Amino acid sequence: MLCLVRPAATLWPSLLALALALGCADDSALDDASDTQTSAGSDELGETGEALGCERPVELPDGAVDPVPWQLAGEVALADDGSTATLAIEIPADQRYLAIRTSPVDGDEADNAQLCHDLLEAHLIAADRSLIPDEDAPLTDTDQRRFAGPGAGVFAFSNTLEPLLPPGAEDTLELRLQMRNCIAGTEASRAFFPDMATQLRVEVASEPQWSEAPKPDAPARLAARMLVAEDSGWGLSADDPAMAEAWAVAVERFAAANIELSLEAEGTTGAVGTLSYDATMLALRELHGEALACLRGAEDDERFVPVVAVPCVYLETPGSSSQLFGHNPHVPGVFDETTNPSLVVLAAGACLDDGSPEPVKTPTAHGLILAHEIGHYLGLHHSDVSLGEHLATGPEATLMRSDISMASDPSSAYFSTPQAEVMLRHPDLREPL
Ligand SMILES: [Zn+2]
Repeated sequence: MLCLVRPAATLWPSLLALALALGCADDSALDDASDTQTSAGSDELGETGEALGCERPVELPDGAVDPVPWQLAGEVALADDGSTATLAIEIPADQRYLAIRTSPVDGDEADNAQLCHDLLEAHLIAADRSLIPDEDAPLTDTDQRRFAGPGAGVFAFSNTLEPLLPPGAEDTLELRLQMRNCIAGTEASRAFFPDMATQLRVEVASEPQWSEAPKPDAPARLAARMLVAEDSGWGLSADDPAMAEAWAVAVERFAAANIELSLEAEGTTGAVGTLSYDATMLALRELHGEALACLRGAEDDERFVPVVAVPCVYLETPGSSSQLFGHNPHVPGVFDETTNPSLVVLAAGACLDDGSPEPVKTPTAHGLILAHEIGHYLGLHHSDVSLGEHLATGPEATLMRSDISMASDPSSAYFSTPQAEVMLRHPDLREPL
């Protein structure tokens, strides 16, 4: 079974996506026995990787990049039913994006780590409009998409075709949050998590629109930095033609979306072994912390996409285990180092532990998966599920389809124009030169 590029980002709330992932077609390139197993068998997969630090010190780029301007919007009380009080957020006119992140102020770390932060209400006062659908109402093309993040919440708007506010308009957003049980997707209450936080911190960031829209000769800029595990079967792009070719494919896909993607730093790390994790993403935190320690110059040095190349990744869901070729733990990818792992994981698919790991796909196929995962990092959901269908423009832009790892025709594997517009609103994007 090869459901392999599906990120767990769609694990919740889209159970449909989960069903798609588990129901996808066989792939003869892999031994079926290694692909899907019962939970009982998953112990054989081994422990989560032990990241060993940067073996080759990573040379980080010179020159300061302005940090994302996070500001404290306030702290809100968390009730026993996992919902918060209302917080009002002022939105200035003509902003490129509005980003919101939430994290626990107090409570027990183990309980808090099981909580996924979701929006319960998001209402624009002046426009008298709700950004998200009422509970159980169908998702429309103009509803903002959000993902319930493990341990902390990050939400970036607008992620629909329309900007958040009309030109020149300012507004006030009234916000309430809901904690959910990451595994079950249900409301998280104090009855289940007696020591969960009583207060949440809410931070907000926004920046004015750029003066010029990105164009082919003056694209927006996006930086990535990569750590390559020594047991991945890959080397640095500077040394390994297969890795260089994969990056070239990803760079070309972003260039077609008016985004200049550059790999501005890379280094190697020790063996990480098989990564195996569930919807809490707890098992990825060590890798995330290690990647940031190697790839980041300072605490607020965060305007880049961290990529880690590993041998093998399994996603554990109740009753089964699926092998992935790529993964991004949350959408979108503004990261918080302690609470919410956020990085792009690129897997070689070398899961057989035979001592000679080798990427199992062509460099082009791994490059498409890399571009797809960075697309998730910048806020895109799969174009063939309800969360992402509003940005799909037909069969010609297949890069964000959930089955991209099985794509037989790379010529159509590009971002759609609406997908490109949403990515350009992500905080990590840098203005055209
Ligand atoms: Zn995906």
